[in-house]
Amino acid sequence: MVCDALRVRVTYKLNGRRVLGDFLLPAMDQYREIVKKARKTAISWGDGERQIEFEEIDSIRSEIYKRTYAEQWAVNANVHYNNWANFSENDFRPVVDAFRDLCGLFVCSKCGGMLRLAMTGIKPVSARCNCGQVGWNLTEKGKTN
Ligand SMILES: [Zn+2]
Repeated sequence: MVCDALRVRVTYKLNGRRVLGDFLLPAMDQYREIVKKARKTAISWGDGERQIEFEEIDSIRSEIYKRTYAEQWAVNANVHYNNWANFSENDFRPVVDAFRDLCGLFVCSKCGGMLRLAMTGIKPVSARCNCGQVGWNLTEKGKTN
């Protein structure tokens, strides 16, 4: 759903076999790029307040990504080797927390709706949710999309 909403480029596989990482990693890259672009756009419009807001969002993103990568070993061990029986709640808790926080990046905290790219033609012009709480301009000053 995130890949669809954020127009994430997912590698095509002829055999149709996909693993979580095929979607997750490009979705994470796309989100990082959108935040980066939103910050750059705020700078272009001289909006220092929003620039700081996006720097905070990016800092939260970075912290969550680090935890997600750190917990990846547990997910891989369990998805691929059915090793779950050897794991305790304490092993899983940080994994669950990291991935819950990661999923939370892609939804609006107010309406719970998924963030999505609004497009003009093939160019993304904003990232937004349904309620309008999230409305990130991606159109830099002086650039027509
Ligand atoms: Zn919303």
